[in-house]
Amino acid sequence: MSAVLELTGVEKTYPGSPPVRSLRGVTLRIESGELLAIVGPSGSGKTTLLHIMGTLDRPTAGTVRIDGRDGQKLSDDDLAALRARHLGFVFQSFFLLEGLSALENVATGLLYRGIGVVERRTRAAEALRRVRLDHRLSHVPARLSGGERQRVAIARALVGDPSLILADEPTGNLDSASGREVVDLLRELNGSGVTIAIVTHNEAIAASLPRRVEVRDGLIVHDAAG
Ligand code: ADP
Ligand code: MG
Repeated sequence: MSAVLELTGVEKTYPGSPPVRSLRGVTLRIESGELLAIVGPSGSGKTTLLHIMGTLDRPTAGTVRIDGRDGQKLSDDDLAALRARHLGFVFQSFFLLEGLSALENVATGLLYRGIGVVERRTRAAEALRRVRLDHRLSHVPARLSGGERQRVAIARALVGDPSLILADEPTGNLDSASGREVVDLLRELNGSGVTIAIVTHNEAIAASLPRRVEVRDGLIVHDAAG
């Protein structure tokens, strides 16, 4: 099996007095086709870890490989291109553009891929179908429920066919029923081959996934079947 993401000895220290050692030596390998939870209490380093996995931030020490490419060896521009090609992101607050329809929001996920507008829209419609929102293509976010907005965000992450989707507390702004639907959808997408890592402090979600990685005080303290 090939690793889509491989962290080795990753540390992240934020400067200050005293400095904050947010990650203290994390080694983590994610294979193609996996669905895993990264779980831990608030302040344990989950978001820091997700940002480093997603190349949104660089580690203080250690290496990050995305589909075999060493992030340390790439310029910021090359790293951004690698990110656009290989990774999709879903955040707690959906980050949809209010003036754009669901279709246009999803199509923005392809903006940095050199794909023409017609194909962007075709692929966005297909991604919205995969999250079962094909009846909402022209709705603006204000006319969608919270659960629907997060499904649009998932479609935007999915539209570029990334190697890995990284979701940071994707159910954090949703009621429990919508949250369950979002997790069920992520599970279903994984069933069709999408590799997904879900960062959460929700133990019930973590326990329901095939792999559970537990973070405490900037270290992985447990990594096993959920
Ligand atoms: P979690 O997502 O698990 O709640 P975070 O990764 O957000 O944890 O934070 C881990 C630790 O790193 C916390 O002590 C937090 O205060 C600190 N931290 C996170 N981001 C920064 C930053 N940009 N500057 C300084 N400290 C930070
Ligand atoms: Mg967090």
